[in-house]
Amino acid sequence: MRSGFPDFRLGTVLATSFTGTLSERHGDAVERIPTPRRLVDWLAVYGLAVDSCTTTQLELARELRESIHAAATAAAAQEPLPAAAVQVINDCSTQGRAAATLTPEGKRQWQLGSASRVEDALSVIAADAISIIAGERDGKLALCASPTCQAAFFDTSRSRTRRWCDMNTCGNRQKKARFNANRSKDLA
Ligand SMILES: [Zn+2]
Repeated sequence: MRSGFPDFRLGTVLATSFTGTLSERHGDAVERIPTPRRLVDWLAVYGLAVDSCTTTQLELARELRESIHAAATAAAAQEPLPAAAVQVINDCSTQGRAAATLTPEGKRQWQLGSASRVEDALSVIAADAISIIAGERDGKLALCASPTCQAAFFDTSRSRTRRWCDMNTCGNRQKKARFNANRSKDLA
């Protein structure tokens, strides 16, 4: 924990890492971007540095986050995508300005519009969500097996049998719970 705020859970997939900024949605939810400043910090970690962030922009970011969560959850369950969520994702995707650039090392880098607005960064996240929900990328949307989490995550394992959004948090907790359950059985 830094400066009293919950740590970020950093994944490799931009869109689902973003939805992971609200964790334990079905338990004691943890808001990991509680202030505009924390959103700025989070975006910087993912190479989307913005100049500033207002409360309204933070609200927009959270609206996009919950829309991606809703659409990705439906996609993972092979259910129809909620129309309102699709609308928000599309609006965010079209309302921002960002361009992919290539670094000399051959890596992709995002260049936001000249004002580096939060909306520009959100458009990159929305486009990332679209690419995984549309099934364009190598992987499969799935839901975390932890009952208090149930986060949508993008499974890129070869067997596509990953069960938890994050091995270090949900996966570990589940393993520990099973271990403790077995131990109390042995003691009984
Ligand atoms: Zn989880």
